[in-house]
Amino acid sequence: MNQIVFEIFKWYRKNSRNLPWRNTRNPYKIWLSEIILQQTQIIQGRAYYEKFVDNFPNINALANAPEDRIMKLWQGLGYYSRARNLHKAAIIVRDRFKGKFPENHAEILKLPGVGAYTAAAIASFAYDAPYPALDGNVFRFLSRLFDIDAPIDESKNRTIFMNILQEMMQGQDPATFNNAMMEMGAMVCTPARPDCANCCVAAWCEAKKQNTIALRPVKVKKVAVRRRYFNFIFIEYNGGFYVQKRTGKDIWKNLYQLPLIESIGPLNEKSIAGELQSLIKGKTLLKPVFDKSVRHQLTHQTIEASFWKVHTDTPPDFQNDDIILTNPVKFKKLALPQLIANYLLHL
Ligand code: SF4
Repeated sequence: MNQIVFEIFKWYRKNSRNLPWRNTRNPYKIWLSEIILQQTQIIQGRAYYEKFVDNFPNINALANAPEDRIMKLWQGLGYYSRARNLHKAAIIVRDRFKGKFPENHAEILKLPGVGAYTAAAIASFAYDAPYPALDGNVFRFLSRLFDIDAPIDESKNRTIFMNILQEMMQGQDPATFNNAMMEMGAMVCTPARPDCANCCVAAWCEAKKQNTIALRPVKVKKVAVRRRYFNFIFIEYNGGFYVQKRTGKDIWKNLYQLPLIESIGPLNEKSIAGELQSLIKGKTLLKPVFDKSVRHQLTHQTIEASFWKVHTDTPPDFQNDDIILTNPVKFKKLALPQLIANYLLHL
């Protein structure tokens, strides 16, 4: 085991990528990078990380910012609950820890949006605490290196992987160890085409010996994808148009969208006019015309979006007072789901 770790460290020292959050011990910046990088590619995440550090140089600046501003900066990154949790956690650190990021692993783990992996990453990178960071890259790398056939998506199997990591980490620098293991998974032992010819631990790789590389890691659960039909109505009035803030417990909470009619299947012009009428108190008759349809893929949902347009000379009296009038200048300051932003920017 020692020789394997030695080779991984040697490879990491020569080949690691120079990433801004690796050149700091500042727990705020490390936490920020870890939250941004959950479910996000490094290239995209890096631009957001730099934008957040520029706008909020410390955790108090982030805590004191209005949530709408944070959501706007997060726009396009997806998984918006991360941005809401980022703000909640910053407020907790400001109020409960006087603006100093907690050092204790158990306290870090209690922050909103911080799970086992993120807490271990922060504790090791910022404070040298010996907690192995087990992310998807490390799961895959270990599954292959030791030819482990225990499914990685069954929580009971986490212990198998954690025990191996604990043993490998003993006597090593925790930050370098975690970084090196993740980097091996991200750069060498990649999902589809692992670079076994240049892998520093190929001589010890059990999956290579057993010819099971393509079968590792094992996953048993299938992700159920839900199909939804969203009809967005662009209602134009007096040079402006209407938007609505999403408030329910659903995707895109606290982001702005065009007034929405969700249906169980595609709607035609007659049915959309009837549905729209139910959103309006008065007798204003609106007959939207179909504009375009877009399929928008999220991890667990396929959104079949139809965009409809209608012009009115009378401001509609909406049943729901969260539908408000905006204009082509003001809407650019609102945090929007990427689907809506793309539509409005190309009008
Ligand atoms: Fe992964 Fe190939 Fe290295 Fe094995 S030899 S650890 S499969 S890259």
